[in-house]
Amino acid sequence: MRVGRAAGVTDTGRRRLRNEDAFVCEPPFFAVADGMGGARAGEIAARLAASALEERAALARDEEGVVELIVEANRRIWERALADPSTAGMGTTLTAALVDGEQGQIAVGHVGDSRAYRLRDGALEQLTTDHSLVAELVQSGVLTPEEAERHPQRSAITRALGTEPTVEVESFTVEGKVGDLYLLCSDGLSTMLGNDDVVAAIEEGRGDPAAAAEALVVAANARGGEDNITVVLFELEEGEPEVATDVEPAAPAVAVTRSEPALTTDLPQSNASETGGDVSRHGAGPGGRAAAIALLVTILVLGVLVLYWGISR
Ligand code: MN
Repeated sequence: MRVGRAAGVTDTGRRRLRNEDAFVCEPPFFAVADGMGGARAGEIAARLAASALEERAALARDEEGVVELIVEANRRIWERALADPSTAGMGTTLTAALVDGEQGQIAVGHVGDSRAYRLRDGALEQLTTDHSLVAELVQSGVLTPEEAERHPQRSAITRALGTEPTVEVESFTVEGKVGDLYLLCSDGLSTMLGNDDVVAAIEEGRGDPAAAAEALVVAANARGGEDNITVVLFELEEGEPEVATDVEPAAPAVAVTRSEPALTTDLPQSNASETGGDVSRHGAGPGGRAAAIALLVTILVLGVLVLYWGISR
């Protein structure tokens, strides 16, 4: 078997000003990242993760390879945060999947609460377990799944990429079947839509992953769009797996991801634009401090003048 059609969409949603999610849709490799951190740090973390994965995705062959990619992405974010104090504490979730068509297997690695689901024969199954506070409370029987869904701390994650020098990646491999549809998504989708809504939206796409991805984003926004929404969908089809060289699969990969050219091309560029943004932020930092000092000095001088004026009267 092999990857058939695939599509990725990311949307800011209706409440947030910025989109701090990122994704990779490079068949047979896929990932979703949901960044966190002050200012633009979450955006930087998610994009660093996506670009690190994208760069090295072709090196991964199996589950172990997927874990190595994620560990490397963690290292890059951590080192960047050390080098740039304005991004200190930044992090991201990451959920990645690699299809091995030869073996008919899908390797999944994840950190945080972005999810992987599989739709098989009309039934949606969540493959990942969130690394989140509420998921742990559900596991230990403190909360019911229904209570967890409405819990105010439902977006608090217990593991993230980039916040520590090392990261514990959860990974597993599942057997694929022709006709399977896999969904990777950020919590902006899964907190807005229940399983039935997800299935309904995918069915609206009538088997086309690009149309299904759009329908999912529209549905999440219709429910409030309270967070950034990111969706990556891919199907498994009959056929010879793509050859694992960089030259051969170029044609099918491009054809497969045609439905979202703007987004795919955005990712490699994101690195550059993000670096550019960061450079300008470096400039803004000391500049802002200088302005603050100037203001402070002005206030002090005025204070002294007023005092002097008061005494001299
Ligand atoms: Mn989110």
